[in-house]
Amino acid sequence: MAILKVCRLGHPVIRTPAEAIAREIIPTAAFQQLLDDMVDTMREYDGVGLAAPQVHLSKQIAVIEVEENRRYPGEGAIPLTILINPKILAMSKKLIEDWEGCLSVDELRGKVPRADSLEVEAYNRKGEKVRFQTRGFFARIIQHECDHLAGKVFLDRMPNLQSLTHLKEFLRYWQD
Ligand code: ZN
Repeated sequence: MAILKVCRLGHPVIRTPAEAIAREIIPTAAFQQLLDDMVDTMREYDGVGLAAPQVHLSKQIAVIEVEENRRYPGEGAIPLTILINPKILAMSKKLIEDWEGCLSVDELRGKVPRADSLEVEAYNRKGEKVRFQTRGFFARIIQHECDHLAGKVFLDRMPNLQSLTHLKEFLRYWQD
């Protein structure tokens, strides 16, 4: 187990489109270890998702996991999901605005409109092609993480910065 160093906005890797992973390397011990390290890092920093550029690796990998009731009461937990070379195939026209934060834009929260539902295709950690539809918070996190793989952060998706708030003020004035 290793906790990886998270880089923040301003490090060039955060703004660099990530490279696709060759399918053959997915089963290798080194790659599997990297996936485990990314999961450990996400959990260590209490994130709901982590993309490889956030740990200084310009690779198309994202890990996602949400414990029940953490942010969206009633929506339930999101089991550990590893997406390699994810592609969003379709998104709903319907947008939902909600708060986002980011381990690489730390101590800030802002309201971001995101597609309510989507269909995504990726390799899983076994190198199998998976394709599924989802909505709500899971769909939001997938969009956030896929943005990281394209060199984007949630600030780029805010229509304006009116809702941008520091975490302490978010918890004091804006948390439901
Ligand atoms: Zn992020």
